Amino acid sequence: MTPENQTRKKVSVLIPCYNEHSVLPLLFARMNEFMNSMPSYDWEVVMVNDGSSDDSMLQIAQMNIRDKRWQYVNLSRNFGKEIAMMAGLDYVSGDCVVIMDADLQDPPELIPEMLRFWQEGYDDVYATRRSRGKESWLRRRLSLSYYSLLQRTTRIPVLQNAGDFRLLDRICIDALRRMREVQRYTKGLFTWIGFRKKEITFDRADRAAGQTHWNFWKLLALAIEGITSYTTIPLRISTVIGFITSFGAFIATIYFLLKTWLLGDPVQGFPTLVILILFFSGVILLSLGIMGEYIGRIFNESKGRPAYFVQEASLSLKS
Ligand code: UDP
Ligand code: MG
Repeated sequence: MTPENQTRKKVSVLIPCYNEHSVLPLLFARMNEFMNSMPSYDWEVVMVNDGSSDDSMLQIAQMNIRDKRWQYVNLSRNFGKEIAMMAGLDYVSGDCVVIMDADLQDPPELIPEMLRFWQEGYDDVYATRRSRGKESWLRRRLSLSYYSLLQRTTRIPVLQNAGDFRLLDRICIDALRRMREVQRYTKGLFTWIGFRKKEITFDRADRAAGQTHWNFWKLLALAIEGITSYTTIPLRISTVIGFITSFGAFIATIYFLLKTWLLGDPVQGFPTLVILILFFSGVILLSLGIMGEYIGRIFNESKGRPAYFVQEASLSLKS
């Protein structure tokens, strides 16, 4: 980005949207007011409807008729937020994009600050939350320990408390568009691509309306996704554990052989046997499970399917 040059800049706002019936009217009002307050930019909001089963799509289409700044991509079914964002990045046409949640937990009022840093030459201005809004104590604790665990496995910085709320320059958009993996952990991709990054902080609001789409199991799945797409360390850990236990088994063998030969020990030690068998079966199953996670990823990626299908879109794919 060249700072402050003469041509008008186009800013795209990418909003994945899944069953946001109750929050959309608020979003439209707040975003329109916001965009009107910043007439020095050209605005485009790309709503990615991620297979909503309520009337979200209808509301979005009506907004598009009323105001051409509002565009949409309607996916053929629910693909999940990660894929919805990927689809959005394929369609946005701006010089930069701001990725934002539909539920107004990410305040649009932060965008001017992002734009300022962007104009100064940063390519990726991401917002980290100082507070996390209404969330259970357990979810917060789990989330924090998860990030510190993840960080210990990799050299690439893991951003704690950073959501997907960020501004990306066209250079980042094009980089992300080249990463076509289907099983995505977008947060990891943002850091992986690099470029000039700038952190800003904000207080995360509570959901303006409606309910979160995440439950414990979905979050657990995302967490495993994060680890297996970030690092292959678990594979190595299982190798090391395998090595240590084999070595232990070798020592134990010698010990028992000597004991039998030298002392003529009569057959005993049934409990020891049971414990050993249980322990080693556990270790073996765990290692198989870890390998399975990675093989599953290979399986899914090797099919080479398109990541999503589009029912209809009000704008065309950015070339
Ligand atoms: N979302 C989506 N597809 C999904 C689930 C969620 O596009 O399958 C969108 C949702 O509409 C919202 C954003 O992702 O704009 C974040 O979802 P949510 O607010 O439920 O997550 P949380 O803020 O609780 O992490
Ligand atoms: Mg939310």
